[in-house]
Order: sequence, then C-alpha cells, then structure tokens
Amino acid sequence: MSETKTCQDCIDLLADYVDEALPADLKSRLEEHFGGCQPCEDFLSTYRATTSVCRKVMARAMPDSVATKLHAFLRQEIGKDKASGG
Ligand SMILES: [Zn+2]
Repeated sequence: MSETKTCQDCIDLLADYVDEALPADLKSRLEEHFGGCQPCEDFLSTYRATTSVCRKVMARAMPDSVATKLHAFLRQEIGKDKASGG
C-alpha cells in the first residue's frame, strides 16, 4: 500500500512534526513531501518562525509595572466581592 500524503495531511501533522512528536516513519514521509512541495516548505518555515517567537514571548517574565497593576486590580475585585457578599 503506497499512501501519498496530501498537503492537508502534512499541515495537520505539522505541529507534532515541529515538536518532534511523530514516529520516525511518519516524519520521514512528511520530509519527503516537504522536499517536493514548495508551498508546504514555505508553510513549515513560517510555522517554525512563528512558534519560536511565541515561545520567547511566553517565556519572558511579566514586567513589574504590569504585575503591580494586576495585583491592585485583583485585590480591588476580591475586596468588592467580600464587601457585597453576606
Ligand atoms: Zn504540500
């Protein structure tokens, strides 16, 4: 059985591929497809760039000014709740 992967199949598996979560045979089949398919190759490089940017942003700590405002806001909201609740 020679099953060819379509672009849609490859894109569905892309997140797992980038996370190295795919079995080796599936991975090599995807790479085969990417090697011969320019749109998928472009998509892959865009996806990789996007996820690496997201990870950097998520990893960065919250600035002090934001954290202080957030704490003040939360304290106010919790205070309101206590005041009104019986
Ligand atoms: Zn493709």
